[in-house]
Amino acid sequence: MPDALRTRTATCSCRRVELVLAGEPRRVYACSCMECQRATGSAFAYRAIYADSALLSMQGETKSWRRVGSSGQWLEQTFCTTCGSLVYMRAEGLKDALSVSAGCLEDPEFPAPQLLHWAQRKHRWLALPGIAGGE
Ligand SMILES: [Zn+2]
Ligand SMILES: [Zn+2]
Repeated sequence: MPDALRTRTATCSCRRVELVLAGEPRRVYACSCMECQRATGSAFAYRAIYADSALLSMQGETKSWRRVGSSGQWLEQTFCTTCGSLVYMRAEGLKDALSVSAGCLEDPEFPAPQLLHWAQRKHRWLALPGIAGGE
């Protein structure tokens, strides 16, 4: 593996679930739709899309929950069966890729989101300067 291909590890709160990811994410985004607010318990989800080919390994026991989104396509949230941390999600519209919860990467240098989806649902106090939709 070339040196340039750095790896990052996503872990849940109890550290039982671990995903090792290679290289840089395709895209980093935030979403303040109501489902993301509920799923994360926070004002917005902060996520990074990685190609399946970037997922070098995955361990730990997880459970997934699938729902149908407003687009009519399914979205599937995957969380640790012990601590409940939402580690990643998959979506029907996201081919051959997964969307990793950026907070699970424990990296303050991780890239900022490029876009805030569902900005119309964001909490009024929330400002994400320089981010499309974040104002
Ligand atoms: Zn856990
Ligand atoms: Zn959302």
